Parts: sequence; structure tokens; C-alpha cells
Amino acid sequence: CGIVGYVGRGGSAGTLAGPEGHGALDVVLEGLRRLEYRGYDSAGVAVITGNGIESRKKSGKLTNLLDELQANPLPESLTGIGHTRWATHGGPTDRNAHPHLADGGKLAVIHNGIIENFAELKRTLSAQGVEFVSETDTEVAAALIGELFRGEAGGDLTRAMQLACQRLEGAFTLLAIHRDQPDTVVAARRNSPLVVGLGDGENFLGSDVSGFIDFTRRAVELGQDQIVTITPDSFEVTDFNGKPAQGREFQVDWDA
Ligand code: GLU
Repeated sequence: CGIVGYVGRGGSAGTLAGPEGHGALDVVLEGLRRLEYRGYDSAGVAVITGNGIESRKKSGKLTNLLDELQANPLPESLTGIGHTRWATHGGPTDRNAHPHLADGGKLAVIHNGIIENFAELKRTLSAQGVEFVSETDTEVAAALIGELFRGEAGGDLTRAMQLACQRLEGAFTLLAIHRDQPDTVVAARRNSPLVVGLGDGENFLGSDVSGFIDFTRRAVELGQDQIVTITPDSFEVTDFNGKPAQGREFQVDWDA
């Protein structure tokens, strides 16, 4: 129900702290706290560390996730995604909470909305040997992006997202990170909102501007059926076919 993404370049001393002295987890958790007003039944985060993707997720309120992070801390990171879930497919359990992993745990995906054709896609992917651990429609999208990343997209996460979105029906905001492209977050939207936040040496994604309002007021609203790839110093928008596109840049002028 709420989505946050972050990628930063790191501090001057080569530390993991972002340019403003925060790491991915700080930004993502602050964003999720701001997005609480939307309502949710589970929360989760994933970051890219030296060990690859690491993720924590819990049903219930954000405090449950914070408790889990106290018990099982995540290392500092410069790339992360966070999600609050409003369950539509599969009950509000830890296992059904997002992020969902694919490509052998190298890819993490979060999703707001509903993938209408998930059952059909799940059958095809299962027949190809993909194993599923949750009851969600989201995990099917994650598996599809993972298969495309390894195959047709030739290890390019943006391309994998484009190809996946051509096959997905319904309403979705999707965010993906992959261990092999550690300074990138890729996002897509169809019938569901997505906003980019522009920083200096860091960029943000949110289901709305509250996801990053504490960090920047420069924002870009994506149009229908668009994909955006953010790195610490760039953002690039395309349509689902890979054709360059443009979002609408604006200044957030309300008081947080
Ligand atoms: N359909 C997805 C699920 O049930 C996403 C729900 C949401 O928008 O939070 O996991």
C-alpha cells in the first residue's frame, strides 16, 4: 500500500552513509513511517549489502518490523526498498509480506496493486521449474522479472522490468533491486501512483511524495505505463517498450 525506494552515492570518506549522512535503511524506514496514513497490515525492507540482497519483513504494524530489525539488524547500505502491504492475494502473514525475492535471492521486488493475470503466469513459471513460497500475486511478478533478467534482458534490470510489464495486467507500482546492479532501483507504474524524488548524489522513489518529503522537495511524477531507473546521479524514464519518455517535474510546496 505504500512504497519507498532509495539509492545514494555514499559519503566523502568512502563510508556507506549517504551524502547527507543517512543510509538506505534510514530513508526507507522514515518514508514508511510517513506513509503509515495509507493503512497496511505488514511491512518489509530489502537492502543491497556486500553479501547481496538482505531483507526483513513482518506482518502487523511497522513497530513489528522495527523490533525484527533490532533483533536481526541489517548492515549499512546505499540501496534499499521498503513496503507496507494491504493484502489482496494471500493473508497478512510474514511470508506473504513484501519484498519478494527471485533469481536465487539476487532480486527483490515490492508491489502495490493487483496483478490480474498472476494465476496464468504462475502456471507457466511453475512449469519452467520456478518455486513459489508465498500466495501473493507479487511473487509471480518478481519471478517473471527474475527469469527475464537472466534470459531475454541479458542482465539488464530496466530491460527486464520493461519486458515483464508488457506481460503484466492489472494495477501496479513495482520496484526492483538486483545484487548485480547495486547502484540502481527500477520502478514501473500502471494504474497506480509513482513519484521520483531528486536529491544531490541520491535519488528517491515513493508511492507519493510523503515517502521522501524529509529529504527532498524536488519531485517528478511519472505518467501512465512508464518505467524509471534511478541511480545516485541520474534518473531515466521510458515507456514499457523502452522508448524514452518524460515525467512531470514539480516542487513539493506543502509543509511536512
Ligand atoms: N496484491 C499484493 C499483495 O497482496 C500487493 C498489495 C498492496 O498493494 O499492498 O501482496
